[in-house]
This record gives sequence, structure tokens and C-alpha cells, in this order.
Amino acid sequence: PPEQLPADKEKPTLVVLGSGWGATSFLKSLDTEEFNVVVISPRNYFLFTPLLPSVTVGTLEPRSIIQPTRYITRHKKRKVDVYEAEAQEVDPVKKTVTFQDLSDIRGAAGSVTIPYDYLVYAVGCENQTFGIKGVNEHACFLKELSDADKIRTKLMDCIETAAFRDQPQDEIDRLMHMVVVGGGPTGVEYAGELHDFLIDDLKKWYPEVADRLRITLIEALPNVLPAFSKQLIQYTESTFAENKIDVLTRTMVKDVKESSVVVQDANKQMREIPYGLLVWATGNTSRQITRDLMSKLTSVQTQRRGLLVDDYLSLLGGDGIYAVGDCTATSYAPTAQVASQQGIYLAGVFQKLGQKAKLERQLAQLRATAAAPEEIEATVKKLNRAAKLTPFHYSHQGSLAYIGSEKAIADLPLFNGNVASGGGAAMLFWRSAYVSTLYSVRNRTLVLADWLKVKIFGR
Ligand code: FAD
Ligand code: NAD
Repeated sequence: PPEQLPADKEKPTLVVLGSGWGATSFLKSLDTEEFNVVVISPRNYFLFTPLLPSVTVGTLEPRSIIQPTRYITRHKKRKVDVYEAEAQEVDPVKKTVTFQDLSDIRGAAGSVTIPYDYLVYAVGCENQTFGIKGVNEHACFLKELSDADKIRTKLMDCIETAAFRDQPQDEIDRLMHMVVVGGGPTGVEYAGELHDFLIDDLKKWYPEVADRLRITLIEALPNVLPAFSKQLIQYTESTFAENKIDVLTRTMVKDVKESSVVVQDANKQMREIPYGLLVWATGNTSRQITRDLMSKLTSVQTQRRGLLVDDYLSLLGGDGIYAVGDCTATSYAPTAQVASQQGIYLAGVFQKLGQKAKLERQLAQLRATAAAPEEIEATVKKLNRAAKLTPFHYSHQGSLAYIGSEKAIADLPLFNGNVASGGGAAMLFWRSAYVSTLYSVRNRTLVLADWLKVKIFGR
């Protein structure tokens, strides 16, 4: 990379919290010349979440879908500080952020507080459990790379244990029962990947127990994928029926035990379902740091669902704070598409803020040197233009999901209407759309190579 400009005390400090979809698309598009940028995130990489379910069964390798944050920041004009740390508190009055390295190896630094002029808040959210007992202790989530790894390890352990000699029959059935809670896209995609693993690999490698594997998807609502069109919901449910994935709709998990879940079924009857592996995918809730921030701005931050921002993504009640992605409560769904478009938009806002600062300096100099009035007037005009912002506008590119057995579903806003498509063609579209959205040539190459590897050698 080219040599970077050093930090400049005269320039404002811009702190970015997070390294997910919102923060990464912001950083990618940001011109750092006018800012001293600090990035704080407990994860020193960006994770391409749409392909995370594929990591749980070994279709993709973990490294193929992540990109180091420094991969972006080291190419920036001005040096960017990146800290692998967790922000613990934002003080919107003093305009400070407190953060700490909470990873396994911590050093002696302890908790650090730094001031900011601008803060881009993109910490995402955490897994929703609705306070149901036993979820955190016994279930696996599917949000982080470590979650996918945990699922992969636990899944194989269940299968190996089921194949262990002299195992009682009902224990084999329990171990080979994979239960997924939540029929949103995360749960559906995971169930689809698991089905592929069973058909393509387990049947060959574990013929003695593979036929005992059962997949059950539990959903509280009357159908899965409430956000997709009716036709694609039916397509998914019938594909799952063909693939022998049991879908229990109108069924709500009430309690999670070490080896069973207690559910209330469609007839309001309580029953217990034994499981070997439990994957929990019931959506999002705000992180503690976000709730704390809201509690400091209670007069304007009135939505439990997330942070309220104006049309320019500026946090209500927060001077110099902007928020993007899943941590916000807007009219948009909490998706990567929204977060990344917001990140790009916000980089445009900062481009204008930078231009404004530059022009203000120029103007002060022109006035100090008694420059020609026309020159001053032209600079004032430019300054006014730089100060004008257009509100954020979201452009929906469609919704895609992989449902297993080489089929995907696609809800696309085309020809002034919605086109719903399911099947092999949608799967090719799903693959090409995601490969082209991956941020780097390195990631694209690795993902394509993984898919090829699976075709040749299996998972
Ligand atoms: P995230 O991407 O979650 O990033 C949050 C960042 O903040 C992370 O880097 C995290 O480490 C960091 N962070 C956390 N706590 C702190 C802290 N205290 N201080 C500093 N940093 C912190 N959306 C789609 O549009 N299409 C899809 O196909 C799709 N598939 C998905 C599949 C799965 C399995 C999952 C889980 C989600 C999927 N999504 C998809 C949703 C999408 O991933 C999210 O909407 C998106 O990640 C939101 O971006 P974000 O930047 O707000 O949050
Ligand atoms: P979600 O909120 O979309 O779905 C969660 C589901 O769990 C809901 O249908 C809910 O009714 C159900 N549920 C909640 N509590 C339950 C209980 N106790 N028992 C049974 N069912 C229960 O969550 P998600 O699938 O994790 O998705 C989160 C966000 O990420 C969404 O905005 C989604 O669009 C996005 N996402 C998109 C894709 C994609 O586009 N392919 C993939 C994954 C996630």
C-alpha cells in the first residue's frame, strides 16, 4: 500500500464501532484525509454472514468468508488505528468512548477512554432468546464464525456418538435429531445446508446411522419465512417436505433443557422433543451497550427495538453520532443490504463534512489575505453546496435464500413489480449474486474453490 499520512491533531477524530456490514462498507468508501479514524471492534475482520450457514457443515471453510479489517484500512490515505476491543460505554455528553480488550489475551492496558468528534455506531445486535430458560446454556446460535464452528463440531460429535458401539436405540434417535428453532431465513438456510450434508456425505460415510438423522424446524407463526412472498413460502415448505425436513409451525419453544425442548404445539398442548443438536435462530435484540446509550437519551430514544436516527442517519439526541445497521430501529429490515447501503451513504456524508472543513479553512485564509471578493464568493457557494445533504434512500435489490438440494428462492423487485422464483435457476442466481457481493478477489476465489472442492471430494 502507499505510504499513509500520519494523524493530524488539527483534524477531527472519527471513531467507528464495529467491523460488520455497516462499518465495513462505510470504511471501504470513506475518504480519511480530513479525519483521524479509529476503528474499535471485538472482531478484527469482516464476516460475510449470508454464507455463514454453509460453514456449519463444511461446504465453505471459515477463512473463505472473512476479510481482515486492516485489509481495508491499510490502503487509506491517512493512517487508521484499529483496535480489537469491545466498546463498553458511549458518553454522548462528554463525547467519549470507553473500550477494553476482552479477548483471551489482554495485556496490561485495561479499559481506555478516548474522545471523539464524530462517532459511527455500527455494533449490530445480539441473539434474541426472549428470556427463555436454557437457551444460552444448551443451544447453538448462528451469528458469528465461532458459532458455525461450534455447530460443526457438535454435529459431528452427535453423529460419532450415535455411531459408537452398543448405543441404545432411543439414544441414537435423540443424538441424530437436529432441531432448529426459528423459521426465518437463518433457520431455513441452516436446515437446507444440513439436509445437503446428510444426502451428499453422511449417507456415504456413516451408512449405519445416516438414515436415523432427522431435521425438525420449529416456528411459532403459521408459516416459515414471513418476509417472503406466499408462493416462495409454499415452495420452501414443499421442498422441505420432499427433503423430509419436519416443519412444526404454530409451535412455540417454551423451555430448553440439556437434551430436549419443551414446546407448546398448534393445539396448545405442551410436549417435549428430544434433540442431539439445537440451533437457535429467533432473530435479533439490542446489545447492552446500545440499551445503555438509549437510557442516556430517553427523551428521544423511545424505541426498544433499536436506536432512532433521522433521515441522514444521525442519532436522535446524539451530537456527532451516526448509527447504521441492525442496531437501529428504522422502517427497513435488519439486513446486510440495508446496513451496507447505509454505510456507503454515510461515507458520502463524511465526504461532504470533509469538503466543508477544507473549504472553511480555505475561506478563512482568503479572508485573512484579503483575497478578491469573487474568489471569496465562489468559495462560499462551494461551501453551501458541501453543506447540503440528501436523505438516505434504500434501494431494495431483492431477497434471496438457499433452501437446500441445490434450490434457492428469490424475491426480486423487477419490471415494476415483484418476481418470485424458486429452484435451480434461483440457486445459480443466489451463488452468482453472493460471489459478486463478496468484498475481495481473495474471498471470491476461496469460495469458488470451496464449492469446487465439495463437488470433487465432498465435505
Ligand atoms: P454486524 O454485521 O453484525 O456487525 C456488527 C459489528 O459490531 C461486528 O463486527 C461486531 O463484532 C461489532 N461489535 C459488537 N459489539 C461491539 C462493541 N461492544 N463494540 C464495538 N464493536 C462491537 N442479510 C442479508 O441482507 N442477506 C443475507 O443473505 C443475510 N444472511 C444472513 C445469514 C446469517 C446466518 C445471519 C446471522 C445474518 C444474515 N443477514 C443477511 C443479516 C445481516 O448479517 C445483518 O443484517 C448485518 O450483519 C447487519 O450489519 P451490521 O453492521 O449492523 O451488524
Ligand atoms: P427472523 O427474525 O427473521 O426470524 C425468527 C423466527 O423465529 C420468526 O419467524 C419467529 O416467529 C420465530 N420464533 C421466535 N421465537 C420463537 C419460539 N420461541 N419458538 C419458535 N419460533 C420462534 O430471524 P433470522 O432468521 O435470524 O433473521 C434475522 C435478520 O437477518 C432478518 O432481518 C433476516 O431477513 C436477515 N437474514 C436474511 C437472510 C437472507 O436474506 N437470506 C438470511 C439470514 C438472515
